[in-house]
Amino acid sequence: MKEYLKKDRAKAFLHIIKRSLALKIVTGGLMLFACAVVFWLQTDAVYGGEKEETEEKGETPETVKDELPKVSADDWELVLVNKQNYIREGMEPELGSLSDGHKVDKRIVRAYERMSEAAKKDGVILVICSAYRDYDYQTGLFDKKIKGYMSEGLPYLDAYRNSAFSVTVPGTSEHTLGLALDIVAEDYSRLDEGFEETDQGKWLKEHAPEYGFILRYPKDKEYITGITYEPWHFRYVGVESAEYITENGLVLEEYVRLLKEREE
Ligand SMILES: [Zn+2]
Repeated sequence: MKEYLKKDRAKAFLHIIKRSLALKIVTGGLMLFACAVVFWLQTDAVYGGEKEETEEKGETPETVKDELPKVSADDWELVLVNKQNYIREGMEPELGSLSDGHKVDKRIVRAYERMSEAAKKDGVILVICSAYRDYDYQTGLFDKKIKGYMSEGLPYLDAYRNSAFSVTVPGTSEHTLGLALDIVAEDYSRLDEGFEETDQGKWLKEHAPEYGFILRYPKDKEYITGITYEPWHFRYVGVESAEYITENGLVLEEYVRLLKEREE
């Protein structure tokens, strides 16, 4: 009887060792696999970026080029302004006044008024907090920010870099074009992500394209626009383009690239 017990114990002991060994082999294998995947992803991100882009370039245009609206990348309402494309100093739009007194490019006055009236009919009051800003004003804002950082002891270059994160570098703001509007609500004037939850934020997201405006800096496209998500910033691009951009989940940078590729 005792012999049996001893044998059983030895068996059980062996069994435990085998199981733990097997477990180690399995976990070891899994970890190796995970490392391999991470390594592959990293090298692909580093070395495969170019390849991916060309693949993307090859795919998207072929499928959507035919349906692209009959507009040109050179049209006035499609001017691309961002960190790579500066507005030339002295490039002044012809201004018009909105009914609330804000100034915009006069060619978009009617489009905005129509949108504002439509929203009102749905019980949503749109409030503009910023429209056209001239180059000097933007420069003033930027310089003030730099001076603020420098007074805290930062050297000029660091102060400049920090300022560029929070204030648009002069010449790279769409507001200087007169084609962009920051729209808020009477009871919500903070420019933060929470605006998307307001009636105004929701209404604009759904209806702005019908009047030619796009949500210019959407979520998840910061790596293209260079600007963090701004649910309050709307840019006029024309109705056809606005609807196309929104339906296809594009940003203006991608849309203009598609138009240029078609024109080539
Ligand atoms: Zn804005």
